[in-house]
Amino acid sequence: MTDTYKLVIGGQLVDAASEETFDSIDPSTGKAFAAVAKGSPEDARKAAEAARKAFDEGPWPKMKGRERAAALLKVADLVKQNAGPLAELEAKDAGHTIRMAKGADIGMVISTFRVFAEIAAKENDEEPLARNPGSMNYVRYEPVGVCVGITPWNFPIQMAAWKIAPAVAAGNTVVIKPATYTPLTTLEIGRLCLEAGIPEGVVNVVAGSGVAVGEELVGSPLVDKVAFTGSTEVGRRIMELASSNIKKCTLELGGKSASVVLDDVDLDYAVDGAMWGVFFHNGQVCSAGTRLLVQRPILDEFLAELTKRTEGIRVGPALDPASDEGPIVSETQLETVERYVGIGRDEGADVLTGGERAVVEGHEGGFYYRPTILGNVKSGMRVAQEEIFGPVLVVIPFEEEADAVAMANDSIYGLAGGVWSSDNGRAVKVAEQIRTGTVWINDYHMINPRYPFGGYKQSGIGREHGEMGFNEYRQVKHIHVDLGGPSRARHPWWDLTVPKRKEPSAPSPETPGSKPSG
Ligand code: NDP
Repeated sequence: MTDTYKLVIGGQLVDAASEETFDSIDPSTGKAFAAVAKGSPEDARKAAEAARKAFDEGPWPKMKGRERAAALLKVADLVKQNAGPLAELEAKDAGHTIRMAKGADIGMVISTFRVFAEIAAKENDEEPLARNPGSMNYVRYEPVGVCVGITPWNFPIQMAAWKIAPAVAAGNTVVIKPATYTPLTTLEIGRLCLEAGIPEGVVNVVAGSGVAVGEELVGSPLVDKVAFTGSTEVGRRIMELASSNIKKCTLELGGKSASVVLDDVDLDYAVDGAMWGVFFHNGQVCSAGTRLLVQRPILDEFLAELTKRTEGIRVGPALDPASDEGPIVSETQLETVERYVGIGRDEGADVLTGGERAVVEGHEGGFYYRPTILGNVKSGMRVAQEEIFGPVLVVIPFEEEADAVAMANDSIYGLAGGVWSSDNGRAVKVAEQIRTGTVWINDYHMINPRYPFGGYKQSGIGREHGEMGFNEYRQVKHIHVDLGGPSRARHPWWDLTVPKRKEPSAPSPETPGSKPSG
């Protein structure tokens, strides 16, 4: 790995057309540590053209699923071989603690490439033939075309895998635009895809601003699909731009997920779980359990223990293996977190712990914030409704399970949530009433590339992962073959006007408009 990172376009590592670069900042120190080629609309166009050419003329879309699978497995192997340097790079660029980068990020990237290799290798491009009277029919799945993936700063390397693996497994070509704060590991994954032998133009990565590069790609007539992860606000803009040529869209947007703690819970276990649900990666997680709903009889005991344990969380530099939490990704995001805690105070919330920047000796320029719990919160407050994307938990008591369900659903979002109880049956009853794409019971953040992930309401459209996520990257074609033979004198449309049948017949399995049986 070098300290100047290039774009990946058309199978080459290239400088930006303008030859400009921008700095990547290490949030643990606040200092620049790498230079990155600064993509512009011109670079975006070149990447879209390369992806278009690779799709229209290249071998990738026509290859067998098992051949594509072999290349994906090779990427997974290369990620494994480069696990140490990639994890360190993610820690420096995105502020992931080195424990998390090694333990969670790299593992997820490898399994994402492997799972989609497995799905592609099933050769499930065609459904079995169905013979109907007079015709033969089948359904065929084909790649969508050129797919753009726009990713956020919170899980850069994982998001790169989430966007690249299913798209290329299904035979598409891609252009990825990583977040400006955190482009490095995505550029590295692009480079590893070339090293794995994925043909030129199939995987392209263009770093650069959302407005310059992102909008050019999303509006491009060369592009067939956009997969976006980020804020709901930008998701709206993506939908607008994608409407220009009716691109397929999958959107994974914001969240304000509820973790519901029932009064029969194992308190020791659930306190840890609630902390994990919200403070994992400083709460910079779309599915974080940022609203903790606790049943009244256990509220005081639960809060006392939760506050005590939260105060024991060690905030420190990302590369220090002793750090439980690293820095917030950027000065801007740190200010957003501070602003929201101020809003909470003004709304009448009590700061039970945290509520200020953390000072980390020797790293005074870093962007650190203490894990924060806000009590005395009502469901209608802004801190209980808006996505903060930082280490801030709001706690709201409830009396009956129905109240918890109503509050959990009192949100414009519907991405995830948790239920904590010693009674699985009781927990499942609550989980089934929460209008979100995922609910974890007595667990949290268990995202698995085999199972669908995505949102209800303003948390998004479509699903990532599993067969369902794979199918978001495929078109569906019905092929109908007439078996009437050359003896048929005329085309069948004339027949629609003369349905003269004396006896009522059983409904045909063919739809109106299909050919009459010979
Ligand atoms: P954004 O939604 O702005 O950014 C996500 C990605 O979209 C980035 O790659 C960004 O590029 C790009 N982008 C921004 N504007 C456009 C545009 N007009 N057209 C195309 N692409 C665009 O998230 P932010 O980084 O600004 O974070 C703001 C808030 O969003 C956070 O506080 C959090 O609440 C939420 N968020 C949610 C995430 C999730 O996983 N659901 C992830 C990250 C943030 P660039 O980096 O250059 O701006």
